[in-house]
Amino acid sequence: MKVRFNRDTCIGMFQCVAEWDAFQKDEDAGKAILEGSEEVEEDIFEREVPEDAEFDAKFAARVCPVDAIEIYDDDGEQLV
Ligand code: SF4
Repeated sequence: MKVRFNRDTCIGMFQCVAEWDAFQKDEDAGKAILEGSEEVEEDIFEREVPEDAEFDAKFAARVCPVDAIEIYDDDGEQLV
């Protein structure tokens, strides 16, 4: 499973931070940070989701008010 985070879209409400600890607060920027991720395009960050964090990652994506977080399965199908 993979998570894709659009930092440009993020408005720093930090609901995701409460759901999955891979998301951290960047208070100065007013944006979340996705730890352990790689910037694959400008302001687009991706990383693998460990099996034991799949539930939390999906929840983080669901609670984001601006849909800045997307979850994909290993076939590239979008789950959330
Ligand atoms: S919930 Fe969405 S808008 Fe809020 S900090 Fe996380 S990614 Fe950004």
